[in-house]
Amino acid sequence: MYNVSVGNPATEFIGLDLGGTFLKAARVAPDGVVGRRLRQPVESDSVDGLLSQLAGAVRKLEEDGPAPAVGLGIPGIVEPVTGIARGVPNLPSLEGLPLAAELAARCGRPAFAANDANAGALAEAWLGAGQDVRNMLYVSLGTGVGGGLVLDGRLFLGHAGYAGEIGHIQVEPDGVRCGCGSWGCVETIAGAPGWVRRAEKAVAGRPSILAGQRLEPAVIVEAAHAGDAAALEVLDGAARALGAGIAATLNILNVERVVVGGGVSAAGAILLDRVVAETRQRTFPAVFAGCSFRPSALGADAGVIGAARGAMLAGG
Ligand SMILES: [Zn+2]
Repeated sequence: MYNVSVGNPATEFIGLDLGGTFLKAARVAPDGVVGRRLRQPVESDSVDGLLSQLAGAVRKLEEDGPAPAVGLGIPGIVEPVTGIARGVPNLPSLEGLPLAAELAARCGRPAFAANDANAGALAEAWLGAGQDVRNMLYVSLGTGVGGGLVLDGRLFLGHAGYAGEIGHIQVEPDGVRCGCGSWGCVETIAGAPGWVRRAEKAVAGRPSILAGQRLEPAVIVEAAHAGDAAALEVLDGAARALGAGIAATLNILNVERVVVGGGVSAAGAILLDRVVAETRQRTFPAVFAGCSFRPSALGADAGVIGAARGAMLAGG
């Protein structure tokens, strides 16, 4: 059968991007070209079911030839040395699991596992909006607010893999409870559920084109484009929280690039411009002046490319 995928099948690695809802998988050549892809709903929340699905996706992609190694991104923390998954609220069965080892055992291939935002950071630093800099913060906007740091050209994980968790910088000390156990984290305001909660509040008692609509970030952004005051209030609040979190990170780490990706970043300039303005007000002028902001260049592929890149760097 004619195979339209590009690249050398013999050396393509496999990247898996496991979300709370969908599993995305792809073959990724050593130069980053994405070959054959898969996308399927996450079938199960049992450990066995999930691992079987991951191994099944690898087997399917290996119909085009064996991969030297497999990389996996998950919506949670992965401890750097042990590869143990921690804090995976959307897939709680993974908690405490030595993920890379389990995946390697099921696939018969060396395996690498990482936090999904760290995988995104790896991908953007390698081939995307951070490839021309050595110090970068990647911010992933979705249901959660994830972050990944590349410092001096290397992914920085910290002692236990929690480095770069910009979504859990506190910006409202008396704010709502966060899944991490704290209050008023960036994520409670700028994560998708935060947009929805604040929009419900913003539309109460005043006319808004959001009234009666299914509230989600994309709908709120559309209403903001139309000048809806309630929608603009929600958008401004998300931008302020993100700007405060990014400013704190810039003042500590002085990175020269902020890359913003994830599904909610599809809002585009109406959000990013506000985030930049809010960051500027809270950052040392010289630090802000030395930092540029870019939307993700790899978009939805950042996860699979970064996971595969991790497998390549791990020596697969
Ligand atoms: Zn938190």
